[in-house]
Amino acid sequence: AIFRKDREMKILCVLYDDPTDGMPNSYALNSLPHIEKYADGMSLPSPKSIDFNPGELLGCVSGELGLRKFLEDGGHTLVVTSNKDGDNSEADREIVDADIVISQPFWPYYLTREKMETAKNLKMAITAGIGSDHVDLQAAMDHNIDVVEVTFCNSISVSEHIVMMILSMVRDYHTQHAIAKSGGWNIADAVKRSYDVEGMQIGTVAAGRIGLAALRRLKPFEVGLHYFDRHRLAPEVEKELNLTFHETVESMVEVCDVVTINCPLHPETENLFDTEMISKMKKGAYIINTARGKICNREAIEEGLKTGQLSGYAGDVWFPQPAPNDHIWRTMPNHGMTPHTSGTSLSAQARYAAGTREILECFFDGTPIRDEYLIVQNGALAGTGAHSYSKGSATSGSEEASQYKK
Ligand code: NAD
Repeated sequence: AIFRKDREMKILCVLYDDPTDGMPNSYALNSLPHIEKYADGMSLPSPKSIDFNPGELLGCVSGELGLRKFLEDGGHTLVVTSNKDGDNSEADREIVDADIVISQPFWPYYLTREKMETAKNLKMAITAGIGSDHVDLQAAMDHNIDVVEVTFCNSISVSEHIVMMILSMVRDYHTQHAIAKSGGWNIADAVKRSYDVEGMQIGTVAAGRIGLAALRRLKPFEVGLHYFDRHRLAPEVEKELNLTFHETVESMVEVCDVVTINCPLHPETENLFDTEMISKMKKGAYIINTARGKICNREAIEEGLKTGQLSGYAGDVWFPQPAPNDHIWRTMPNHGMTPHTSGTSLSAQARYAAGTREILECFFDGTPIRDEYLIVQNGALAGTGAHSYSKGSATSGSEEASQYKK
């Protein structure tokens, strides 16, 4: 994308709401553990400096991703809002003359083709996180708008959430916790759906940064590990983790007790888990989906849980987001859903705020943005986008997000 370095820019940042009782005065931990580098050797975000305290809330409106001082010192304008859905939202009004838009997958500003066409100055959409399916990537390619994300910033955060959800669903933690909280002690009620994970077959759809990290973390549980991906892992990794590679999703789901979904959402993966795919799964299997809501068919999941074809479904991703208050995944049986949180722990926020700053510094300085951060550049899929996405768009239906009422 073309930009003039001498011009002041307008940056629109769409973030989730502050805590209902205001920003915290103190935090549970005084500091975050130091992390040297990511598992594959990639370095952590490396902006020239930061203006926030790692470990504080940065992803909500008042947190501003820690960007205000940096942007205003540079003469730029920063507009931060959580108002993004429905007709005439604040984000829609502000985007018309914005140069850069920043949004997070947890509270995605759905950048449809229509909205992009109102934004004549738009040069770049930054995902403060991972997963840029909330941007119509095809429209971004057509309009020469670059799309970048902070690759690896929360991949480990999500892999931890996956392990938590597999254990909590198979062992039926939610039921037991509810009994403890409500003053009860019926052990038979508490364990009538509770199993051990040991000995189970667990498979991941995609073994990228998250999928592979989840496999590594699951290995000590003495389970059989399986994966399907369009890119095969190195033979030494397959050997180290004793992995079974499957040529198709179908062949994997047939033999797995637990399936975890870790591919991006793009036209090839949208609606992948429909009634037909679920019918090919082992009866009573569990699905853990922390990738994207739209990869699973809403009604097919509910139906699978109701018939017992699925024993449980957990994840933190919905479509659209925020999910309407009456979204059936909020009330279906045997679910362990959270709102979209796995990639926005305070630990993850510190990394993606720093990564966003690094991207902006590169943009203003005219220096290259890391290849790993690129999804779309100069009208084509690039970097991680070329590796992990396919052409097309997955934003249709996102208007439904306006049905959510606080
Ligand atoms: P990654 O790019 O490292 O890995 C993606 C993997 O998916 C790659 O190995 C790729 O080959 C594979 N893949 C793509 N299309 C496929 C297809 N059609 N069939 C099989 N495999 C396919 O990304 P990552 O860091 O592992 O993240 C993966 C996704 O997880 C993100 O795109 C995002 O949607 C989601 N995510 C969710 C959260 C959260 O908070 N819940 C946070 C981060 C990422």
